[in-house]
Amino acid sequence: MEFKQKQLINALIASKIHGWTNVTKTGSTSAVSWFRKNGESVIRMAQFNPVEDLNQAIEAAENMGEVRLEFKPGFLHQATVEPYQRIGADQLGTGEGPTASYALVQAILAAAEIMVDQFQSADDLLVKGVVDDEGTLHYKCLRCNHPLRSRRSQIIGYGPECLKKQQEEPDLIDLLQQEQDRKAWLSDGNFMDELTRKEAI
Ligand SMILES: [Zn+2]
Repeated sequence: MEFKQKQLINALIASKIHGWTNVTKTGSTSAVSWFRKNGESVIRMAQFNPVEDLNQAIEAAENMGEVRLEFKPGFLHQATVEPYQRIGADQLGTGEGPTASYALVQAILAAAEIMVDQFQSADDLLVKGVVDDEGTLHYKCLRCNHPLRSRRSQIIGYGPECLKKQQEEPDLIDLLQQEQDRKAWLSDGNFMDELTRKEAI
């Protein structure tokens, strides 16, 4: 498998299956290590390679549910992952490949309904530039005012649900921002200055 593709799949397993992120405890972002949501470091990205490391692949699969691996001599390795809590037609994930680890990550992706080709590269899965210049952390959601617990949310300023809503409503956010700018402009007294200036003309 091409290096870039391998890197992407490893990053998908890290972020989507394990729920890891590249945001550190202090809120900066890392390009070399994975962290838990609370900022604890887990493993260096280069060392997390479930595509080729069977133990890491099994660990990720067991995170989801039941794992079956088969190999018929002369054929490919086959893997099945059956998530515990999923119901419906797509609950089984199957994969096959030249190695057991490869087959297993394919099965994990299928079981989690993750489409690899929706992502360009591992970079897409990394959080970038979320800390503003002052490194401000938000302890309450900017949208609903609920306390934010995870470091990642504190950096972004929104809980996971509200972040989703924010991203779905960019137009509304723009409008609100414009309204805020207008109010700020009015309260700055610029409005009166403008009027006075016009009257002077
Ligand atoms: Zn919220």
